[in-house]
Amino acid sequence: MRRPAAALAVLALLASPSVASAQRDAAVNRAGEVAARNWPTALQIWEWAEPGYQETRSANALADIAEKAGFKVTRGVAGIPTAFVAEFGSGGPVIAILGEYDALPELAQTADPVRTIRPGGNGYGHACGHHVFGVASLSAAIAIAEEIRAGRLRGTVRFYGCPAEEGGSAKAFMARAGLFNDCAVALHWHPGSRNTAGDASCLARIAAKFRFYGVAAHAAGSPEKGRSALDGLLLTMHATELLREHTPDGTRLHHTVTGGGGAANVVPEFAEGFFYVRHPKAEVVQKLYPRLLKCAQGGALATETKLEVAYLGGTVEILPNATLARVARANLTALNDLKYDADETRFALRLQETFETKVPFDTLAKVEDVSGKSSGGSTDVGDVSWVVPTVGFSTACWVPGTPGHSWQAVACGGTTIAKKGMTLASRTLAATAHDLMTNAKLLAAAKEEHARLLAGRAYTPLLEKDQRPPLDYRDLPRRRGTE
Ligand SMILES: [Zn+2]
Repeated sequence: MRRPAAALAVLALLASPSVASAQRDAAVNRAGEVAARNWPTALQIWEWAEPGYQETRSANALADIAEKAGFKVTRGVAGIPTAFVAEFGSGGPVIAILGEYDALPELAQTADPVRTIRPGGNGYGHACGHHVFGVASLSAAIAIAEEIRAGRLRGTVRFYGCPAEEGGSAKAFMARAGLFNDCAVALHWHPGSRNTAGDASCLARIAAKFRFYGVAAHAAGSPEKGRSALDGLLLTMHATELLREHTPDGTRLHHTVTGGGGAANVVPEFAEGFFYVRHPKAEVVQKLYPRLLKCAQGGALATETKLEVAYLGGTVEILPNATLARVARANLTALNDLKYDADETRFALRLQETFETKVPFDTLAKVEDVSGKSSGGSTDVGDVSWVVPTVGFSTACWVPGTPGHSWQAVACGGTTIAKKGMTLASRTLAATAHDLMTNAKLLAAAKEEHARLLAGRAYTPLLEKDQRPPLDYRDLPRRRGTE
């Protein structure tokens, strides 16, 4: 009689909420351990700092880790050599976890709190923290896979290796290829200078390069024989500035010169500008782009130069999901353990000397609710969110007050400050994935909210028909004659 009683007691214990929550805690801790173990890979990706669609080493490093952890890895998805999908488990629910790994130009920096350009690199730097983004997400996926392998969770975890987030719109091509169609939810996060969570959105965006072709001539000896491609570009930029006044509230227009001649005494025969137009609604961006195009056409017409347009595609705004956001926010708040040690405090104080405003370090202990707000930037996560209920959050991987896309963000990314933020992100992702895989009602509520917000609208990517990913969008125009 004793034995069956003992066996029953064990069974009761297995089914009890305390055992379930202990298993969940163990999985969450495991995600933190895996992230900490993968920190050298994050640092390696930080050092490589590869441009969008050229992240060959970074993507392979992550795909190799996934393969070693027993995932089935498919490399080169959606016609993109550096995009991959790593999957573990079988059947539903399919939980997607997104990861990124591209860097930004002109922002090479050492891990020092003063502006020091890292020598020997390609000029790129991880100013958006995507080196920790990919690693934290993959680490969480591995921790969830271990639970599936042990039979404690049922379903599939899928890590998406997403390249070229910075202007390359890779996830729009991945979404168009149907890679997210069978997912129940998609989880993502982003490094930042504070912890935030909530059902926030972002700006939709279209990117294009305008190239002008003119006629070279001696700028002093025979200017009448020349037609300046740079003039075509300058006039386009001026027209864009005038256009700005007559756009709907919330519009953002920005541009940079990626090619503009090489010598003051030569009329430039080639010039190239990189343009963005953004707005909180994709449908508005779609209406603004033809007007931006007219600016370029006007620039070419007035300067008698020839215009070539490279449409790089666009990304739609995030469709937020309050059901999922509540879960992620609760988990981030419960798990937040961010605190600086003496070395990190010294680094942070020194770095803050480069800022006008000093944000107090006690903000690290908080999680800001950003529900109903816009991140102010754009992300191709937006395209995923129209296909599948999606949720994200931010953890403080940079010193409070650090702007994204700055050398200070790159500097923080090479320190244990980023490691701590990355580990917290991995644990929060694992906790959220665990909650969703063990609560069918939550998944159903998220799906219902998603359908309600879509209100019958279908996902329409801001891509041209049959458009191929702009794999060379980070290449600067080569000087003529050097090809
Ligand atoms: Zn980013």
